[in-house]
Amino acid sequence: MRLLLFSLVLGLNFSTVWAGNGTSGGGNIYGDQLNPWFLQNTPTVSYCVEIDPDFSDLPRSRVLEVVGESIEFWKKTFREYRGINFSQDSFEFDVKLGTQSFQYKDTCDGKEDLKFQMGFLTQEQQVLLPNHRQLLGIAYRTSYDSAQLRGKGFIYVAPERGPSRPVKPLMHPRPWSHGLNRPLLFTLQHELGHIFGLQDDHYGSVGLMDAKLVERVTERSNVRDMNKVNAIISSYPFGCNMKLESHGAYSFLTSESEKGKWVLVEVLSRNGRIQIMHDKKLWGEIELSFDRAVSTNDVSAISVYLTRAQRVFRNLPREAYNQHLEIYHNSEYELRDQQLKLVSGEVKKFNMEFDRNCTALGFPDV
Ligand SMILES: [Zn+2]
Repeated sequence: MRLLLFSLVLGLNFSTVWAGNGTSGGGNIYGDQLNPWFLQNTPTVSYCVEIDPDFSDLPRSRVLEVVGESIEFWKKTFREYRGINFSQDSFEFDVKLGTQSFQYKDTCDGKEDLKFQMGFLTQEQQVLLPNHRQLLGIAYRTSYDSAQLRGKGFIYVAPERGPSRPVKPLMHPRPWSHGLNRPLLFTLQHELGHIFGLQDDHYGSVGLMDAKLVERVTERSNVRDMNKVNAIISSYPFGCNMKLESHGAYSFLTSESEKGKWVLVEVLSRNGRIQIMHDKKLWGEIELSFDRAVSTNDVSAISVYLTRAQRVFRNLPREAYNQHLEIYHNSEYELRDQQLKLVSGEVKKFNMEFDRNCTALGFPDV
């Protein structure tokens, strides 16, 4: 039997590729500026939230809820990847992210590690950020302890109203207040991503760390879609994780059963199970067996730059210092020898591939 499956229509149409002036992250000019703000030696991170009246129509309690959700999102994401996906080749160097307990403080007193500034920048910060009238959001590190590898700073999210509302003609009038507040959640997730060391993605379409993400989710024409219950930018900012969740419509060629005719099927991948629907009826199912998963692509996720001042890692070789240590993650997989059980009772064996979006790219012949 010959099975070919071609992608792809993703659940949410975000396939546009955005070009931009990418920063390579290479070279030493950035020093430790690209480091995650917190590594595993930091057990707790204190944070506080200050909200300007111009920020949104949302009550404080709702803003706090969304902030909390965005933090939980990253902790969960790192938990799901831990152990299986991060690697660094040349020597033993174990980086864990998102292990901290984030502790909320009622008031900002300057001692907090992370301050959420909803709708305002101080005058000093406005000087630091000359483009602030164009900014929708930013994560800004104000200091870094290069012994403890620990940063401190703020996340700014622009206000919907008032003199500091960004000068953006395409911006929705109330991107944060509208509906389920998803644009706010996605924006906070994106900015927190920077705190965990992820850089803007200028070329990919992976979603969450897309350099243009915040701009797009706050656009007049997108806010309504963003607030749909199923709107997910990308649950897996490092590419596909082991849950392989995706949803797509495919042209499907089954040369035997359909006599070489292309048919349109819907493929739903969830919790390790793939369901293939044809004419709204179940056509076949695959129970994915992950022990047959092979990584087919490693991509640099974050980089860590160490100087001799660092006190976190012991017994590192000389080459660990004064360069960017790239920590890779596996973003694409091949799952070999999977079983497709057709509703008709037939069982077929074949290989599958998953791309960075967890989208099944093809079912090669077996
Ligand atoms: Zn960004």
